[in-house]
Amino acid sequence: MSEQKSKHELVIDALSHAGGPMSANELWNHLRSTDSKNTIGIATVYRSLRKGVQDGDLVPVELESGSVRYEPGSLKHHHHFLCSDCSRAFDVDGCVNNLDQLLPAGFEMTNHEILLYGICADCKVAS
Ligand SMILES: [Zn+2]
Ligand SMILES: [Zn+2]
Repeated sequence: MSEQKSKHELVIDALSHAGGPMSANELWNHLRSTDSKNTIGIATVYRSLRKGVQDGDLVPVELESGSVRYEPGSLKHHHHFLCSDCSRAFDVDGCVNNLDQLLPAGFEMTNHEILLYGICADCKVAS
């Protein structure tokens, strides 16, 4: 069982250093590329993600409908950039000031979502 736990920790750890939310498949590919022994199966990734969400260590992020990514629940307020070329999502620090100015008169804002679209630096260089 301790073997299982360390794999779970590996999954959570990889996600917290990813620099952006990842889908189960992305995370699995990432883990396989860094794990020379190649011991982590996709089922373990799914299990760890589910457990991470249950425990509050991870939160699901749905940037595109039908595609769920995961990120650490401990991150401070931030937004995301979605690359339309490689489909990777990146964390974007900070926020926009004065969003309240967009509100119709008499409205109160309780939350907001901002998603930036474009081409990431890697893809821009490659093109
Ligand atoms: Zn890209
Ligand atoms: Zn914000």
